[in-house]
Amino acid sequence: MNGLPLLPEEPPQARATTIQVLLPLPLAGTYTYAVPGGLELKPGDFVTVPLGPREMRGVVWPEAARGEIAAAKLKPVSARLAHPGLVLEVMKFVDWVSAYTLFPQGAVLRMVMRSGSVLDPPRPQTGFMAQEFPKGLKVTPQRERVLEAARGLNFPAAARELAARAGVSDGVVRGLADAGALKRIDTDPDAPFDDPNTSRKGKDLSPDQRAAAQKIVTRIDAGGYSCAVLDGVTGSGKTEVYLEAAAAALKKDRTAQVVVLLPEIALTLPFLKRLEERFGARPAHWHSDLGDAGRRRVWRRVADGSARLIVGARSALFLPFRNLKLIIVDEEHESAYKQKDGVLYQARDMAVARAAQGEFPVILASATPSLETTVNAELGRYYTVQLTGRYGGAEMPEIALIDMRSNPPERGEWLSPVLSREVTENLAKGDQSLLFLNRRGYAPLTICQKCGERIMAPGSDTWLVEHRFTNRLVCHHTGFSMPKPDACPLCGAKDALVACGPGVERIAEEATLKWPGARITVFSSDTVPSNQAAQELLQQMRDREIDILVATQIAAKGHHFPHLTLVGVVDADLGLAGGDLRAGERTWQVLSQVAGRAGRAEKPGRALLQTYQPEHPVITGMAVGDREAFMLAEREGREMLHFPPFGRLAAILLTGDNEARVNEAARALAQAVPQAQGAEVWGPAPAPLYRLRGRYRVRFLVKTTRDISIQNFVKAWVDGVKLHSSVRRTIDIDPYAFL
Ligand code: ADP
Repeated sequence: MNGLPLLPEEPPQARATTIQVLLPLPLAGTYTYAVPGGLELKPGDFVTVPLGPREMRGVVWPEAARGEIAAAKLKPVSARLAHPGLVLEVMKFVDWVSAYTLFPQGAVLRMVMRSGSVLDPPRPQTGFMAQEFPKGLKVTPQRERVLEAARGLNFPAAARELAARAGVSDGVVRGLADAGALKRIDTDPDAPFDDPNTSRKGKDLSPDQRAAAQKIVTRIDAGGYSCAVLDGVTGSGKTEVYLEAAAAALKKDRTAQVVVLLPEIALTLPFLKRLEERFGARPAHWHSDLGDAGRRRVWRRVADGSARLIVGARSALFLPFRNLKLIIVDEEHESAYKQKDGVLYQARDMAVARAAQGEFPVILASATPSLETTVNAELGRYYTVQLTGRYGGAEMPEIALIDMRSNPPERGEWLSPVLSREVTENLAKGDQSLLFLNRRGYAPLTICQKCGERIMAPGSDTWLVEHRFTNRLVCHHTGFSMPKPDACPLCGAKDALVACGPGVERIAEEATLKWPGARITVFSSDTVPSNQAAQELLQQMRDREIDILVATQIAAKGHHFPHLTLVGVVDADLGLAGGDLRAGERTWQVLSQVAGRAGRAEKPGRALLQTYQPEHPVITGMAVGDREAFMLAEREGREMLHFPPFGRLAAILLTGDNEARVNEAARALAQAVPQAQGAEVWGPAPAPLYRLRGRYRVRFLVKTTRDISIQNFVKAWVDGVKLHSSVRRTIDIDPYAFL
């Protein structure tokens, strides 16, 4: 090259400062963009960038600079959005969840950014408020209803809302405003949330509760990460205790944010009321049923730090907090914390990781802590705070078994004579009873008596469940449903379809025949389609308008029914089958929860468990109320097999609509399994639900010892194996479902 003229140096402006931008897409990592002159950008800023032919929103990501690249090769960032950016902690969390779950960073960021429309600038709205009525104005009944609705609200409501409340068209509202009877006010569509008042006092705590609260508050005051296991029987006042902790965190730092995670939305409304009483302000509520406007409001107010107390489902963990200082995970043992589609994460575990990274405390509350949590506490990673008895001296329910082998129900019935007698006596006393069966619908299986056909969902190896209220057959896995046919779809035989096994609707039918005068109601997710309907039903129960509630697990948690004194568990063995490593533990938890519904107040309660396996450790453990013994047995079993928490698990699921391709992919993966000390791979095996929605499903299960990274093992294995594009591969670290 000697002698050749040197290329002129590129002028300085042709070399650009570059940044990394993470886009909310399921892509591997960040993209490099140039920063146009004059644009100040820092990590966390929301930006728009060109991606192919379109513009997308993303986040400037903190990443080591990759050296300067010729600006000509790079597209520049289009703009920075005015919205406050993500704080470093949130970005670190995204990276961590991605590395842990093996889902791309962009897929995790998508959970933080939601649809992205949360970032659109607010469009001011016009609200309407009642004011002094102008003299001489004509009042039609329609107008009167609108004015009444407006007077009933103490905030400016949108025309649409007032119109809906009054049952009129929007025009009537505007007409009233034009006539001067309503005042137009510009409103913020993302109205701020009221600040929780931390100087309000909570309930007077019992000495036991006070000691528990004190122990947690001391850790909060000390600062830094800690994980409390708040362990106390149902009704012991765990909620009162952790609300003290929330108050302490909010008080300690005037910009602190606190989030309470709940496993089930049905539990939330009464809970929100309780928090409102405690803090004189309604908390921000984040859940899947929020409409766009509601979601936007919570998201933006969490992002700007003005929403300080947030109650939400598991996805609330991915809100763009400004200064998160405490996470409370209520009912920490609940498997509902495991996300089942999209990024597969365990919200309880991620909550602990989030707290550790952010160096703040986390509280895991439960009456039946999971084995994972129990072992972590024993190892000293978590500290335990115990509440031993029920608040106010309420008794724990007495638990007894009904051996169904010696007390069989009548033919075609499901309630044994012993349980039936107890219900009759309870009715005579005017007390309420709960019949619990964790199965929705009328019957889990419909068979043709003529040809033996089991009615399945099309393209799936799943039985259709009969629902009599709606007269449909429904698949609980895919959501498919069809009207119940008169004839067998296979052989055409008329009136040959018979229902096998019971669901709650069938138990209610039996109860109606046995106790014709009783007020009997079914409570399951499909009989109460909305949260509102659930609240009304719960209120009826509290008001003693129901004598017998026949319910699934939706009624098992959190509710207080002061006059409920008898719980009958129709099939205590139901959850024990199925080959799930947590089957025993889950059965224990749900039975404890449901038994805990009985005898909440002054009246002692009883729980009767119908079982065909009275010797099963879960069932005997329940009968003698010996949690320690049950947990010990459970623990020994899992330790022996090196199952979590004594080992690590990951599942790999291959699915596709072409069976041969799926099997080919499985073989290719099977051949590539790396040899590694402490790691075992089982499979490929057809999944228990081999066909679902027309797709074939094959599984692998990976088990490793705790001292090796299961993520590294899985990556080293699957990254090198190219699968046919029609086959989808899903990695599930810490799987909770094995179907
Ligand atoms: P848990 O969360 O352990 O199931 P809760 O906190 O919901 O228990 O308490 C059970 C019931 O007892 C609730 O109705 C609650 O209001 C009441 N309770 C608990 N502690 C107190 C207290 N210190 N003062 C008054 N009521 C209490």
